[in-house]
Amino acid sequence: MTADSFRAAVMPGPGEPLRVERLPGPRLESGAALLRVLYSEVCGTDVHIHRGRLSGVPFPIIPGHVSVGTIMALASPLTGVDGTPFEVGDTVTFLDVHGTCHRCYECLVTKQTTRCPHRRVYGITYGVSDGLLGGWAEALWMRPGVHMLRLPEGLDPESFIGGGCGLVTAVHAVERAGLRLGHSVAVLGVGPVGQSAIALAALGGAHPVIAIGDPPSRLEFARRMGATAVLGLDIPPDERAARVRELTGGRGVDVVIEAAGQAAAVSQALDLARDGGRVVVCGQYTDHGGVEINPHRQVNRKHLEVHGCWGSDFSHLHRAVSIAARHAGRIPWRDMIGARYSLDDAGRALEAVERREVTKAVIVP
Ligand SMILES: [Zn+2]
Ligand SMILES: [Zn+2]
Repeated sequence: MTADSFRAAVMPGPGEPLRVERLPGPRLESGAALLRVLYSEVCGTDVHIHRGRLSGVPFPIIPGHVSVGTIMALASPLTGVDGTPFEVGDTVTFLDVHGTCHRCYECLVTKQTTRCPHRRVYGITYGVSDGLLGGWAEALWMRPGVHMLRLPEGLDPESFIGGGCGLVTAVHAVERAGLRLGHSVAVLGVGPVGQSAIALAALGGAHPVIAIGDPPSRLEFARRMGATAVLGLDIPPDERAARVRELTGGRGVDVVIEAAGQAAAVSQALDLARDGGRVVVCGQYTDHGGVEINPHRQVNRKHLEVHGCWGSDFSHLHRAVSIAARHAGRIPWRDMIGARYSLDDAGRALEAVERREVTKAVIVP
């Protein structure tokens, strides 16, 4: 790695094989920093991007939105949210979303900053020509205004990246769910978001915590994350719903978190909630098509609350890091990483995630 150029895995376009390119380092302006990337995760979203299922991606791109790195250079003094200055050598992560404007209707009036139209996302809305703004690279340019967060002493970077994007999303989903002590919870989907939602529900005092998904190995892992009951997709949907009612005194669960990524799961989620319960939909980040529901039977008569959950803000990242620091000893986020790949093998990493050979893959540049 020379001082002024860095290797990066480039996704040229939908369906095209990845390639490694050497790119110039950024000219650091005041407020900027440069990270040496330790880990960047391979998220389901990266698979969807490579399949062309996410609109507005400025190919070619350097993928990688959630990453951990070491500060190599700081152009000017920068201070973290805890008031202490960042220093060269600190291990940090950062909110992949930046440029939230705090001037628009969404930011100021409806207070939905994750819907700000001016927000940009590392690894997704930047092209290669914009610079080193994706994590699948030796170095990452922290543009002025990007919110970095130091990993606390004792939190090993692999534990944090093992949770990664899924953990941050799950923090937001559980917040939207209004989870309370003693709530019963069903989580649809046992990928990275579902696994972390299970862990957070268990930590939050929920019982039972019912994991629904496949394959069996992931359901077994869900037990390690805190699920008290698991239901495989080999059980027909009606029977699954009956089992959930059995586990909840005949009523259905207080909270359903859909993290399955299939439209049919949303309809099932409506069926699993108790009357007056709450459903959070966070598994439809890309367009998985439609599904038929019966609004009378599944929503209106049940007096149901249905919440979408889009993106995350700094508060979710901050809490995710705090939770990982406190609980990584007993919640096996680190073990969710099924394989580690070099930049040259980034294409294989995508394939492994797409084929569900691993729950989580990480790039180690
Ligand atoms: Zn805005
Ligand atoms: Zn992601």
